[in-house]
Amino acid sequence: MTASALLPESLRQDFPILAQHVHGDKPLVFLDNAASSQRPEAVIKAMVESYACDYANVHRGIHVLSERSTDAYELARSKVRAFLGAAYEHEIIFTSGTTAGINLVARSWGDANLRAGDEILLNLMEHHSNLVPWFQLAERTGAVVRHIPLTEDGRLDLYDLDEYLTPRTRIVAVTAVSNTLGTINPVRELARAAHDVGAVVLVDAAQSAPHLRTDVQELDVDFLALSGHKMCGPTGIGVLYGRAELLEAMPPMFGGGSMINRVYADRFTSADLPAKFEAGTPPIVGAIGLGAAIDYLEAIGLDRIHAHEQALVERAWEGLSQVEGIRLLGPRPELRAGLVSFVLDRPHAHDIAQLLDREGIAVRAGHHCTQPLHDHLGITASTRASFYLYNTVGEVDALIAAVRDVRDRFKPTGRKRRRA
Ligand code: PLP
Repeated sequence: MTASALLPESLRQDFPILAQHVHGDKPLVFLDNAASSQRPEAVIKAMVESYACDYANVHRGIHVLSERSTDAYELARSKVRAFLGAAYEHEIIFTSGTTAGINLVARSWGDANLRAGDEILLNLMEHHSNLVPWFQLAERTGAVVRHIPLTEDGRLDLYDLDEYLTPRTRIVAVTAVSNTLGTINPVRELARAAHDVGAVVLVDAAQSAPHLRTDVQELDVDFLALSGHKMCGPTGIGVLYGRAELLEAMPPMFGGGSMINRVYADRFTSADLPAKFEAGTPPIVGAIGLGAAIDYLEAIGLDRIHAHEQALVERAWEGLSQVEGIRLLGPRPELRAGLVSFVLDRPHAHDIAQLLDREGIAVRAGHHCTQPLHDHLGITASTRASFYLYNTVGEVDALIAAVRDVRDRFKPTGRKRRRA
């Protein structure tokens, strides 16, 4: 096992929600971080302080609170720029989350650039958020959706990429980390290949930005979307990074206040970036909370966080693979981020999650918004344990023991099956 680079036991003190017992005396073991992480006190405090001391609407008021609020909101943008390695602050658009960011690109860039017969290249491990907006775009434009195939162990199969990535491909939309398989995808390699045929690349960074260092210039991607709530930030705030020249050429998605330069009786002119894509009152305090979350993660270091999660995932993989009747989904630990999804021959994923919950262990069960992937794997649901910086080796061991126990309770006896 790789040595853990973090001391999660001390970090846990920063997360008040984790210090509780559930179902009586069970210490909470929170392993549902891929759905939404928890927030450290620093983030909660930054948001409370903003509401308590500095809050007013941004960009409009000529008064002290509006100036303070605007400064804090724009400071958050500059933190996101540095966090993502973007060249300019105006390439950072605040959205409500990854879903909103991808939809913005599909609507604004997609409608302006795609024609019937053009191709959109996806793959079956994508979250519904990175499928449905493209299906909708294809319906509107007559474009065609194609998929990069997957390998047996749940990676993108790039062997015959030339077959799928052609001069007709206009966009490649890919997740940096699969929320079900945990696979870390070779975004840089894909971006290079996509640019070679003149396609643009959108990266769904919902599951990567919280855990792995992200540099949009190094990756050479055109668009990247993330959600604050999965990276110690609040809900309702996300980011769309877009290359400046692409964003500049795109029409605004929503019309209203803030996104205009001038409105006449029958027409308008758009504001410059980033305001063009931030119509209406933005999620001001959410952005400030996200800025505080970035400060928190940067102080620890994304590389240390990733190394810690790798150690946890290796241990989980090793321990769970010993459980009778288990099928672990996705590639081996070195190729994945900090989550493990599995199926037991019995019981069903929902029953597993319910039984684990009784032991205080929070996991997710279902299709995780990856129904096409579950169809491809021949299953309807799986159970997912997802780790973050505050999870401990002890919690992973508790998960392994609890899963083993669940399977034991449902073990076929030959004559009669025991019921839970
Ligand atoms: N993409 C991936 C890979 C995800 O895991 C998720 C959320 O689970 C999303 C997109 C959607 O994120 P949000 O619901 O924050 O918009």
